[in-house]
Amino acid sequence: MTKRIVAVPGLGVVPAEHPVLRGDDLGVLRGDGVFETLHVRQGRPWLLDEHLDRMARSARALDLGLPPRHELEELVTTACAAWPEAEEGALRLVCTRGPEDGGPPTVYATVAAVPDHLRRSRRDGVAVVTATLGFAAGARRDAPWLLGGAKSLSYAVNMASLRWARRRGADEVLWTSADGYALEGPTSSLVWLDGTVLCTVPPEATGVLAGTTARWLLDHAGDLGFTAEERMVTPSQLRSAAGVWFTSSVRGCAAVRELDGVALPPSPHTAAIQDLLGYPL
Ligand code: PLP
Repeated sequence: MTKRIVAVPGLGVVPAEHPVLRGDDLGVLRGDGVFETLHVRQGRPWLLDEHLDRMARSARALDLGLPPRHELEELVTTACAAWPEAEEGALRLVCTRGPEDGGPPTVYATVAAVPDHLRRSRRDGVAVVTATLGFAAGARRDAPWLLGGAKSLSYAVNMASLRWARRRGADEVLWTSADGYALEGPTSSLVWLDGTVLCTVPPEATGVLAGTTARWLLDHAGDLGFTAEERMVTPSQLRSAAGVWFTSSVRGCAAVRELDGVALPPSPHTAAIQDLLGYPL
């Protein structure tokens, strides 16, 4: 397995041990910055435009100046060129607010192997527990400082909720709103099939991250014989769905095989979705 690589503007590719951040960088001190995670397949970034569009939206939400788009594209290209074509990879593109006392944003990209547990989840599915975020589904619409829909570097809450789920024997957590709606996972979007309608949660109304994988899948729902809609859903409604999945750029698609300790019937559509998305199983 190839070791993680790091690409830095102006320096090119450096070993992962090479320092790229100052101790006073606001990305470290406050988690103040934005990032994107992309799938690298056949040596190329998948859905790069969509990820750069979302990074620009995230940066606007944080009043953060990003380098010009072509520089970010070049950085991603440099990083991908150093990654073996035959190996799928997970590319992180990071932009922080830079040093606390002022200075340019800090930008770099890393590529690493796709973690084993995510690769396995494509085949084996995931056991999921629900956990409340503590606010109503519409709360983040009225409170832009909660950064709903922005992929900021502040993922400590996301990681804490995953650890909480794993302590309970689950693989993943499905965040819910205080008014009882299912929202998203800490690193994934919720997708489900209601009859022949492939659904995901509306980002605008709820502040969930607009998942590039879920969007791509819904845009190609016709290839599977389905239509597509953004809808609100409760965990109990998910129990009668014709399939429930977690999607994200690095994992691709993982079927939810258990929700709060109760098995969900395996969906006959998982294989077709996996095939369409094109991630190795
Ligand atoms: N929701 C959250 C909170 C995420 O962090 C992610 C990805 O990491 C997603 C959804 C899925 O988004 P994408 O499909 O663009 O990777």
